[in-house]
Amino acid sequence: ATAPQLSNDLDVASAATREYLRRTHDLLIGGESVSSNGDGRLTVLDPSSGAEVATAADGTADDIDRAVRSARSALDEGDWKSLRPDERERLMLKLADLIEDQADVIAEIEAIESGRKVGDTRVVDAEFSAHILRYMAGWPSKIHGETLPASVPYMPGANFLTYTVREPIGVVGAITPWNVPMCIATWKVAPALAAGCTVVLKPAELTPLTALMLGELALEAGFPPGVLNVVTGGGPVAGEALVTHPGVDKISFTGSTAVGRRIGEIAGGLLKPVTLELGGKSPVVIMADADLEQAIPAAAWAIFANQGQNCCAGSRLYVEQSVFDEVVDGVVEIARSIRLGPSLDSRAEMGPLVSRAQQDRVDSLVRQGVSEGAEVRVGGSKPDHPGFYFEPTVLTDIQRDMCVVREEIFGPVLVAQPFRDLKEAVALANDHDYGLGASVFTRDLDVAHAFSRAVDAGSIWVNVHNVLDVGVPFSGFKQSGVGTDLGKESVLANTRLKANYLSLKSGLG
Ligand code: NAD
Repeated sequence: ATAPQLSNDLDVASAATREYLRRTHDLLIGGESVSSNGDGRLTVLDPSSGAEVATAADGTADDIDRAVRSARSALDEGDWKSLRPDERERLMLKLADLIEDQADVIAEIEAIESGRKVGDTRVVDAEFSAHILRYMAGWPSKIHGETLPASVPYMPGANFLTYTVREPIGVVGAITPWNVPMCIATWKVAPALAAGCTVVLKPAELTPLTALMLGELALEAGFPPGVLNVVTGGGPVAGEALVTHPGVDKISFTGSTAVGRRIGEIAGGLLKPVTLELGGKSPVVIMADADLEQAIPAAAWAIFANQGQNCCAGSRLYVEQSVFDEVVDGVVEIARSIRLGPSLDSRAEMGPLVSRAQQDRVDSLVRQGVSEGAEVRVGGSKPDHPGFYFEPTVLTDIQRDMCVVREEIFGPVLVAQPFRDLKEAVALANDHDYGLGASVFTRDLDVAHAFSRAVDAGSIWVNVHNVLDVGVPFSGFKQSGVGTDLGKESVLANTRLKANYLSLKSGLG
């Protein structure tokens, strides 16, 4: 499953991309590129070769403080506060256009820093980010309160006009992961801007570059200085400083459950609202009546897309007993044929993992799984190459307590197990701490509906896996999160509801 050439040739990238990589990547605070108060730098690697391609500022707690102050004054004093909803809408649409204009560069930068295929980064990070902004741009003019009939029986004769207004929640701290960097940064930032908030964005330390591009393009689009600030830096320092900062009114986080739990604990102590989109171990269930020609490649790409580094990756495959061998053989055959290759090579079907640490983690979990009795049907090791590749891997003979079943591996590793009937399939699907997504492949509508009703997951897919759209709410159940991203709900989650009682004199006289 290897291509002859696994390292990226950066010379195939456009001149604009190479120029962008060469720049000094500082912080974006108050509309300006400013250097960090500290002198640390984050190293940005190309996972396809392991080579350093850029550095970025390693933001400190002081940097976060400057960024929050800037977001605060943009919220309380600047032009942003007085912009009409249609003006906010126009800025967001302009930003979407600029992202589309820069799609090639964004796609290449994202491919180089994250290791994902350049075709995917174009569609998911550049084009989908523009799509997110356009949808969210429709909301500023549609966020509203209500008039409500208030009786207030303990004030006889009183006459009230009672209504609610939705205000921006304030300064939003957005903390994002490396697996789909620009897209997730946009889906955090866009609803906050739509609601009239200002933002401090802290991207993952492995992939800081496209978040900075997003901030720069927002300035070019005309967003007032301080509305979107970007502080690159590490989680425990810059990230935690953002969570604890008294000037931040809400934290919107996407990342691992372990870090989400810590953020939730801190925010709980401060009574600060949070949205937490966390990990997953999503089941794919294939019934014997399914169209297997469709279901087998869908199951394979549910896990191997993005090297398995999707929060909704279909990492647990459950197949009805009578077709188990056929389905597993089919997925194994696809895995064997997948062409590994560097992220800028359009012929590559699967790229490297994001980092050496991620590669080592996947490797050690697979080894532990094997030592616990799992059988490797295909893959199971890393090619001998300085890039962070891992072979597409399928494990069978699994038991519920094995680490490869319990842990979110976040790599191209599938565990497969047969089941007898729908009841057992649902029990297996639900037998997990996570509840992010789940899919079922069947031609039977009753089975599909029964599955949907019985499975604890925020998104259910029928005859497809891992489809998301900006207009559709995305929630994690159980240990997969708190709150909702995307959709109307993500806009409302960046607002606060204020009630107004106006005491009126009764009658006309
Ligand atoms: P991570 O939790 O390690 O890091 C995410 C972000 O949190 C990074 O920006 C990091 O710097 C920051 N961070 C780390 N420690 C922190 C702390 N103590 N305080 C504040 N911030 C801190 O996650 P990752 O490895 O970047 O991403 C992979 C994880 O993200 C997986 O678990 C995946 O399932 C999850 N994910 C979830 C969704 C979703 O929508 N549910 C989407 C994508 C990824």
